[in-house]
Amino acid sequence: MGGKLLYEGKAKKIFETGHPYEVEVYFKDDATAFNGAKKGQINSKGILNNAISSLFFELLEANGVKSHYLKRIDERSMLVKKLKIIQIEVVVRNIAAGSLSKRIGWPEGKALPSPVVEFYYKDDDLGDPLINDYHVAAMGLATPEELAWLAAESLRVNAILRDHLLARKVKLVDFKLEFGKSDEELLLGDEISPDTCRFWDSETNLRLDKDRFRRDMGGVEEAYQEMYDRLKG
Ligand code: UDP
Repeated sequence: MGGKLLYEGKAKKIFETGHPYEVEVYFKDDATAFNGAKKGQINSKGILNNAISSLFFELLEANGVKSHYLKRIDERSMLVKKLKIIQIEVVVRNIAAGSLSKRIGWPEGKALPSPVVEFYYKDDDLGDPLINDYHVAAMGLATPEELAWLAAESLRVNAILRDHLLARKVKLVDFKLEFGKSDEELLLGDEISPDTCRFWDSETNLRLDKDRFRRDMGGVEEAYQEMYDRLKG
């Protein structure tokens, strides 16, 4: 579309469009982990994450979850509503893994009896620290009503994605969501992809997500492709 570059993040670029309330999200192949300490490239990641995120946003929309997603423009870009991003990352977990396993000592793969919602302060310089509702209130990141809505909406997203994925033989271990405001309306934003979720094969627990890059497990591009194939199925 060729509009002015508004912002460049670790995995995406945001471009202006001809419309003041819409922006183009361009998905790069760049991959980072550990708050940018590990850098690399995953071939075709941008194409696959754009396609996977588009499918998830369309699935969510069909189930009544409102997001910034408008349409997929081309291989690497989607058109979205421009959001004023809330500086909270919402993580939902169904199975212990990653930072939760370290924090509470539960081995990776141990099922959580009920989903766990966590909030992180979206600040790269601080390494996105874990926060709670008191921090959110004290820091003025969201009102209590907004925070309650973010948690409830994230759990709703979890239920929809979990069932959809299980039917495709994938366990939804955990994932991260971001939200923002468009004209005072709260909408789901960002992306939903193997960069932001943990996906495990439901029979073998084979990892089909960015942990393959974070942990140098190999087969990274193949895992992203496999996720796309199962979703497209
Ligand atoms: N996550 C993310 N961005 C972040 C941190 C986490 O998308 O900045 C996702 C991650 O892919 C996983 C979930 O959130 O699906 C939980 O991540 P965790 O807290 O276990 O952190 P990690 O072990 O990845 O550092």
